Amino acid sequence: MRLQQLVKAERRPRDFDPRQYISTWTEKDLLHGKVVDAWVIIFRTRGCYWARASGCSMCGYVNDVAQEVAPADILHQLDAVLRKHEAQPMVKVYTSGNFFDDHEVSPEVRDTILKGLGDRCDKVIVETLSHLLRAEQVEHAMHHVDELEIALGLESTNDRVLRFAVNKMWGLKEHAHASQVAHAAGATVKTYLLIKPPFLTEREAIEDAVRSGHEADPYSDTVSFNPVNVQSRTIVDRLFRRGEYRPPWLWSVVEVLERTRNLHAHVKSHPTAGGMVRGAHNCGSCDRKVVSAIEEFSLGLRHEFDDLACECKDVWRAYSDAQEFMLTPADPIAILET
Ligand code: SF4
Ligand SMILES: [Zn+2]
Repeated sequence: MRLQQLVKAERRPRDFDPRQYISTWTEKDLLHGKVVDAWVIIFRTRGCYWARASGCSMCGYVNDVAQEVAPADILHQLDAVLRKHEAQPMVKVYTSGNFFDDHEVSPEVRDTILKGLGDRCDKVIVETLSHLLRAEQVEHAMHHVDELEIALGLESTNDRVLRFAVNKMWGLKEHAHASQVAHAAGATVKTYLLIKPPFLTEREAIEDAVRSGHEADPYSDTVSFNPVNVQSRTIVDRLFRRGEYRPPWLWSVVEVLERTRNLHAHVKSHPTAGGMVRGAHNCGSCDRKVVSAIEEFSLGLRHEFDDLACECKDVWRAYSDAQEFMLTPADPIAILET
């Protein structure tokens, strides 16, 4: 079966109330060099069109989306969530899809969201696929907000990795174009890159992330490395359950950050489920310390990781060597233990 069909076959979309947003919370982020509260809102929409057609191998977002969500439903979600604003100066808007896809978020709804949030926050961050972004959309959006950042999921700059590991058909060319469109309108760009999509060894994954960071740097104001976490009902989940995928070691994340910290763009990483078996993790005893160090690095509070040490760093090196020797991206420890 082709990867496109396999990804889709794993999906189990569930029914949800289209008038309820998915989630909201506050986290720390960097604004103009200062650590501030950042408000995160996840709206429920019909979801990413690519996830409905096929979808990325690591993405479980489609499991959270409603089948259909009318514009009035999204406005109802907006009304409810705006009441929860607590003076956070920055807001990140996610839709489990693409903010600039007119079929997912209509232009009228997009205007209302941007105006509501632009009135309350200094900076608004939205997410979309690069090939969906059009100049008039960004120019229009800039009327409602002081600062706009457009987050684009590039994942890798290697077309083979995108096609055969991520199942994404757009790459650096589309990303560069979207970045030019965003910058011309006065917006900034955050580039998401993956650490360890499936079918890559630990070492290949590190090298892919480092190379992608350097190649995406000219088109990015921020480069955010996302270590892959195992979301249910995905290809990554299927491999994980068979011992054929292990999320990246936190040591790999540290190495990627060390080798990209001199980029022109601000470099960061927030490992989802960091330290847990389905997220980037080490041996269990050093995880909390290493995740904290990565968070501090991302907030500009540290620039080095030299103080971190644990015996599992040798295991991490041996793990990578074993994969090369065994010619497999599978988890050598899981293979030996089962
Ligand atoms: S990762 Fe992004 S582009 Fe890929 S299926 Fe998920 S929401 Fe769509
Ligand atoms: Zn350890």
